[in-house]
Formats: sequence, structure tokens, C-alpha cells
Amino acid sequence: MINFEEAVVETLFKVELPLDTLENGYGYLGCILKHKKSGKIQCHICGKWFDNLSTHIQQTHKLKIENYKRKFGLPMGYGLVSEKLASIRSKTALKNMEFMHYIPDKNLLSKVRKSKKWLKSMQYARTNASFQNKKGICDSQIDNRFIIVADIVGREPTSEDLLKYDKKLYSIIRNKYMTINKYRKINGYEYKSSTKEFLTKTQIIAALRKFYALYGRAPAYKDFQRKCLSVSQTAIRSKFGSFNKAMMVASFDTKE
Ligand SMILES: [Zn+2]
Repeated sequence: MINFEEAVVETLFKVELPLDTLENGYGYLGCILKHKKSGKIQCHICGKWFDNLSTHIQQTHKLKIENYKRKFGLPMGYGLVSEKLASIRSKTALKNMEFMHYIPDKNLLSKVRKSKKWLKSMQYARTNASFQNKKGICDSQIDNRFIIVADIVGREPTSEDLLKYDKKLYSIIRNKYMTINKYRKINGYEYKSSTKEFLTKTQIIAALRKFYALYGRAPAYKDFQRKCLSVSQTAIRSKFGSFNKAMMVASFDTKE
């Protein structure tokens, strides 16, 4: 009887001890012996070791796998190949399946997306003007459509709003910026604050003029350091580029 803990061989799958020795053959009844180091499995008939016992039995011993398994009391559902070969086979099978059906591996996809090479190529594609024009997704078009949705819902559009009122814009932004929030961040919208009031250019101009009416002086940039009349410095910059431009549009004299 083999002491499995010390031996150079072990069983390929778990079996109940003790094992029945074979009179005409090698190994034991109902189990497959595996070489610990090479991982190869033993043929019950000739005692040699193989990665692919299945092929060996059919070609050398001219025996059907089913009959071999029956003869040596092996489980019918178990493949007569080493674990190494089984893992290679399953990986290959998976690969072929993914290729044939284009099953996206989500983990793989996120890994690829994070890779610098991928980002670089996407950034190139996205900043490439001819690519953008072809797809009709230049920045001003996106902004216009975003503002249209904002006017419909009366605030900064959330992802749900975009899906509801401009599904195509939603996917365009997702394609170009990955997430709606990233688009918002880049364009200076109130990041993640869907409940806050969305300001249009007109509303900002109205606030600047209202400031004058209330305080009797022209507003200064520092007046909007904290939100004043619902307007923030960020909102002004994102809509007009600079405070002075906003003041010009609102017909105030600027020192520029
Ligand atoms: Zn053999």
C-alpha cells in the first residue's frame, strides 16, 4: 500500500482508502495515479505516464474510453488527461468561445481601459477633429444638446434625464468622456449635484444685473467667491470662460 503523503505519486481525484490493488495491471481500482512533479497520469494497462491518457488508450491499447473506465472502475464523467492539459484545454475552449461569440470579459475590459496605451489611442481618436466631425460629436454640439436637455428639465441634467430626453447624447458623452460625471467635471458643471439649480447663460446675466440693482454697484468677481444670487465663480467661468466676458455680455464696463 502506498503512503500517499510521502510518495511521489498521488491520486488525480479524491478517493476513499483503502484502495484495491489490480492483479493484471498497474495502480489501483477506481483511481488514477498522478505524478506529483510532472502531473502526468498513469495508464492502468502498461504503467506508463501521460498528459493525455485518453489518446494513448485509444491508439496504443485500441480500447474505447468507456470500456477502459468500466474495466478499472473510473468515473464516467472524468476526463483522462492531466490537470495541466485540462487547464490548457479549458482556457483554449474559453478563448474560442469568446472569440466566436464576442463575450466581453468585464475584468479584462476594465484592465485594458486603464492601460496607458489604450487611453492614448482613445485620446487621439477623440481629439482628432475629422473623427469628431464624422461622428457629429464636436464639443459645441454636445454642449448645445446638453443645454437643451437642461432647459427641458429645468436643472443640470442627470444621466437619467439624458437617457429620457436625449438617449443619443447620453451615449455620445459616454463614448467621449466615459462617464456623464466626467463630462460635467470637465465642463465645470456642479459635479454630482443633480438637485442643484442649473444655470443658463441668461440666468447668470440676469443675476449680474440683479446684483447691480440690489447693491448699487457693479459686481466684482470676488462677490461670487461664495454663491451669490445662486451664482458661483465656477458657474460663471464654465459658461463664459471668464468673469470679464460675462460682465461684457451683461453690458457692464470692464477694465479690460
Ligand atoms: Zn498504456
